[in-house]
Amino acid sequence: MEDMLTVERISQTYQAENGELTALEEISFSVKEGEFVSIVGPSGCGKSTLLSIVAGMIRPTYGTVFLHGEPVTGISPSIGYMLQRDNLLEWRNIAQNAILGLEIRKQATPENIAYANSLLKAYGLWEFRDKYPSQLSGGMRQRAALIRTLAVKPEVFLLDEAFSALDYQTRLAVTDDVHRILKKEKKTTLMVTHDISESISMSDRVIVLSRRPAHIAKILKIDFADPDLTPLEKRKQHQFQDYFNTIWKELDVHV
Ligand code: ADP
Ligand code: MG
Repeated sequence: MEDMLTVERISQTYQAENGELTALEEISFSVKEGEFVSIVGPSGCGKSTLLSIVAGMIRPTYGTVFLHGEPVTGISPSIGYMLQRDNLLEWRNIAQNAILGLEIRKQATPENIAYANSLLKAYGLWEFRDKYPSQLSGGMRQRAALIRTLAVKPEVFLLDEAFSALDYQTRLAVTDDVHRILKKEKKTTLMVTHDISESISMSDRVIVLSRRPAHIAKILKIDFADPDLTPLEKRKQHQFQDYFNTIWKELDVHV
């Protein structure tokens, strides 16, 4: 498969109160079309910075991000971004929230609204379309946020610790849910997380970042015998523990 996204020699230095702070140092990797890649690294190493650069929201100090070979120079409609907070608008019902991104982009055409509705139907939220976010569970809210992002048909999906606000049980269910939907919709995904298990269970490849200044410590291909296992099922495989130990060692966590 062709490379969809290429991150080439990205470095980022911030001006902090007590001098310069280098968050990222020479980060390079590619993500293929339809691939699910995650980036794990310790808190504060620069993961959100990296994702903001990929999203075109920050110009890096050095290096270039390419989408289909074209440099990303600003916020691109081809890139969808999901954060820890679902950012649903409480005064809009679920159907109205689902088309928010379309409205913001002035693309709320009948066809696009029909597509958003088809996603609500396909992923079990159609009966809840008249409900308000406060009437939904955390998991369903996250699914609604996912559908809102899918509705604008981004080519690349970015997830920044998107599940860390959820309680553990919900998080397991939601990662299964989100993984299934993104694979079914054949989305190219780049996710950052500090949760090693989450990265192994969802990804085709895991990129491990070092402590700050973050550089790539390791890139690990995740291969289970049965590629159709769900994230929850992968957690039960003996291989899972091996992957976990490999990443844990790379992260070199001190307590
Ligand atoms: P992570 O998402 O891995 O926890 P971040 O990318 O949020 O890490 O931050 C990496 C480092 O850069 C942190 O030390 C943070 O304090 C610093 N940082 C982030 N944004 C800014 C900024 N706008 N100005 C200065 N320092 C920043
Ligand atoms: Mg972060």
